[in-house]
Amino acid sequence: MSLDSATRQRSTWTPLTGAAHSIAVEVLLDGPLPRSELARRLDLSAGSLTRLSKPLLDSGLLVETRGVCDPASGRITRPLDVDDTRDAFVGVKLTADTAHAVLTTLRAEVVAEREVPLADRSPGHVSRTVAALVGELDALDPRPVRAVGVGLGGRVGAGGVVDSARYLGWEDVPFGGPMEDLLGVPVVVDNDVLSLTRAEQWFGSARRCGHFAVVVVGMGIGYGLVVHDQVVDQPDSAVGLLGHHPVDPHGPLCPAGHVGCADAVLTTGALTARAGLALRRPVTVAEVLDLAEQGEPLARRVVDDAALALGTLVAAVGNFTMPERVVVSGENARLAEVGRAALEAGIRAGRNPLATDLPVDVQLTGFSEWARGAAVTAIRTFVLGSRR
Ligand SMILES: [Zn+2]
Repeated sequence: MSLDSATRQRSTWTPLTGAAHSIAVEVLLDGPLPRSELARRLDLSAGSLTRLSKPLLDSGLLVETRGVCDPASGRITRPLDVDDTRDAFVGVKLTADTAHAVLTTLRAEVVAEREVPLADRSPGHVSRTVAALVGELDALDPRPVRAVGVGLGGRVGAGGVVDSARYLGWEDVPFGGPMEDLLGVPVVVDNDVLSLTRAEQWFGSARRCGHFAVVVVGMGIGYGLVVHDQVVDQPDSAVGLLGHHPVDPHGPLCPAGHVGCADAVLTTGALTARAGLALRRPVTVAEVLDLAEQGEPLARRVVDDAALALGTLVAAVGNFTMPERVVVSGENARLAEVGRAALEAGIRAGRNPLATDLPVDVQLTGFSEWARGAAVTAIRTFVLGSRR
């Protein structure tokens, strides 16, 4: 399938560079914004701002909102905002057995979602499944889909080639290019944790924060880092380095032979194995967290031990990379809420007493948020013109 021709006519946001582009991005991330605030942020004179924003208003990229009193000048002003009615994006999160897709606005608000099982993991079948999902979501909304993001657990090279995605059984699979041929819009394939980090940076709790880290606790342990407003995107960003950091000297072994690494203590498999032993029956992570909240002592012990280990991990992240804040994300991020006291004890124990407080945000992340992360890579491609 292919999206309609109107979609293909406008595959990037213009202008892509210069002060006009900076105005548009500021308004996208924080709008509506009064002109005086924009001029201050971008160090522009009022005249320059008027001159630069005029073509953006004429083209319909920006719109003027209802008049308000500008606190800076005391005059009535009409703040600038982006026109959110012109563009839509699709983000897809691939797991070993499902494709979960969301349709979003330019500001990454989810307007619809779909999930389908993957009957097999061959690249051809997955491409066709993703294309069908995009077509289905595109038909639901009058805004044309401008770009598509696909997030997966694995290493993705230039041009959307998946270097390796173990759980899909893919090695050196050209995925982004064939998907673009199928859909006729830009398709950005990205590591899922990096996508989530990019989403946090633009539209999440760490938005406008120039230096922060994301620690993902779920089926695996993930780590994303933003330094000087840039997402650190290296080949090793996608191999799960943080997962093998030691967090408990008495913990179990991981498959790579480490004693008490984060992978062996904090993943879904590790948590359910420990809780299953303690409670003498199979349990899910959600159940253990519920039981701990209800005061069940064994579940509380399991949760507090894991949250303490998570605190050790967060402290290490803080010590090595000195972020302004850490976002704990992923399917099991609720561990940081239910075990908050133990998490903070772990952080304190692992930090120099002279160190500043390390704020920890908790973002509960289900498939919808993972897919939204992939949509944000698509939005960034559309807005910035670069692939990731
Ligand atoms: Zn390990």
